Amino acid sequence: MTEKVQQNDVVTLDYTLYVENEVLESTEDGSPIQFLQGHGQIIPGLEDGVQGLELGEEKTLPIPAEQAYGQIDPDARQKIKIEEFSEEIPLEVGTFLDFRDEEGDVLSAQIIAKDEDTVTVDFNHPLAGKDLVFEIKVTDLRPATPEELEHGHIHHRPDED
Ligand code: ZN
Repeated sequence: MTEKVQQNDVVTLDYTLYVENEVLESTEDGSPIQFLQGHGQIIPGLEDGVQGLELGEEKTLPIPAEQAYGQIDPDARQKIKIEEFSEEIPLEVGTFLDFRDEEGDVLSAQIIAKDEDTVTVDFNHPLAGKDLVFEIKVTDLRPATPEELEHGHIHHRPDED
């Protein structure tokens, strides 16, 4: 029987991510990623592309921005007065800052411009608006345990919560 990636599998994946023909990140430099298939833990285009692949199979997956991190939202860019920041915070263009929203969730934003009184921060994902190409290989595959499905995440050890 050939094992194929299906809903509720725990998938282990090696990948290299290309943006505009350049390698952006690769699991060759670290460890492979693991996720629960069909639970929105990875970008939609990657989840769709992995579905049905066989264990050991390699594939090149072009993923348009809409199926990756979405298009750039101009409304996700905001000007904030510099006086609203604590003086210890380095406000340099390119720096990422963490903000808390009303629900207390942490949102990351990058400073993309600065003038005398304000900084402009961008809450768009750094890969928003980018078409991605993934070279992937399924290196391990197993069905999730009932407990993992109940929790909606993977357990790396049997006694893990
Ligand atoms: Zn758990």
